[in-house]
Amino acid sequence: AAKSAGRNTMRRFVESMNVQAFERLTIENGLRRAIERGEISLHYQPQFDAIDDRAVGVEALARWTSPQLGVVPPDRFIPVAEESGMIHALGELVLLQACQLQRRWQNGPNAHLLVAVNISALQFTGQDFVASVAAILHETGADARRIELEITETALMGHGPEQLERLERLRALGLTLALDDFGTGYSSLGRLNRLPITRLKLDRSFVQHLPSDADSAAIANATLSMARALKLEVIAEGIETEAQKAYLFARGCRLMQGYLYSRPLPEEALEAFLAEAAQRAAADEHI
Ligand code: C2E
Ligand code: MG
Ligand code: MG
Ligand code: MG
Repeated sequence: AAKSAGRNTMRRFVESMNVQAFERLTIENGLRRAIERGEISLHYQPQFDAIDDRAVGVEALARWTSPQLGVVPPDRFIPVAEESGMIHALGELVLLQACQLQRRWQNGPNAHLLVAVNISALQFTGQDFVASVAAILHETGADARRIELEITETALMGHGPEQLERLERLRALGLTLALDDFGTGYSSLGRLNRLPITRLKLDRSFVQHLPSDADSAAIANATLSMARALKLEVIAEGIETEAQKAYLFARGCRLMQGYLYSRPLPEEALEAFLAEAAQRAAADEHI
C-alpha cells in the first residue's frame, strides 16, 4: 500500500509538473505573438500627494489580454519574458506606449504628471538598454523629465561600477529613477547614497499590515528616516485604508499609491478619473 501511495504521489507530481510546463510553454508561445500583435496594453495607477490629494503621477502596468488565455497578470508573464529573452522587446513596447502617453499629455492638464515605467532587472542589464531608452524618447518626443524608471531594489544589489554608470547615463537623459519594492533588499545608507535615484517606493508588503504590525512599522519608519537623511522622496505603494495613509503621512510620507485612491485604469478611464480628482482638489482649496 505504501508503495502504491508513493507511486500515486509520484504520478501526481509528474502530472503537476507537466501542467506547469505546459502552461509555461503556452504563455511563452502566446507571448511571442502577443508582442507582435499588440495584445499588450498598459493600465495606469495614479499616484498622489497626500498633503492636498492632488495627482502627481501615474505608474504604467502591463496588461496582456490573450484570445486563448484571457487576461494574464504581469506576475505570470514577466518572468516568462525574462527567461525567454522576450523582456527586451516587451520592455521597449511598454516604454514606447508610456512615452506616447506623456507626449499626448504635453500642453494639456496632465502635462505635469510623472509617468513611471517598470524596468525588469534583466532588461536593465541588456547591452543596448540605455540606447533604446534614448531612441524611444527621441522618437516619441516625450519629456524625459516626466518619465520615471522604476527599478527594483534587488535588481541593483551586488552590481558594480558598470550598473552605476548606466544609472548615471539614464539620469543624463533627463529621466528620474525610483527604487521599486524598497525594503525587500538590503540597501545600506552608504550604498543608497551613491545611487543617482530620486525616490524610494516602499513595498506593499510593509504597508499592508500597518499600523498594527510592529515589524512593518519598523521598516516603514527606517525607510522614512533613511530617505530623510539622503533627501530622497518616498512613495508608499498598496495604500488600501485611511489608517495606512494616516500612519505614513504622520511620519512624513507624502506620496501614496493604492486602491484607496484608485486601481490601475485603462487610459480613457484614467483621464476621466484625473479630471475629477483635479476638480475635487481645487474645490477643497476654496473651503
Ligand atoms: P509593482 O511595480 O510593485 O506594481 C505594483 C503592483 O501592486 C501592481 O500589480 C498594482 O496593481 C498592485 N497594487 C497597487 N495598489 C494596490 C493596492 O492597494 N492593493 C493591492 N493588493 N495591490 C495593489 P500588477 O499590475 O499586477 O503588477 C505586478 C508586478 O508586475 C509589478 O509590481 C511589477 O513588478 C511587474 N510589472 C507590471 N508591469 C510591468 C512592466 O511593464 N514591466 C516590468 N518589467 N514589470 C512589470
Ligand atoms: Mg512598480
Ligand atoms: Mg512596486
Ligand atoms: Mg511591489
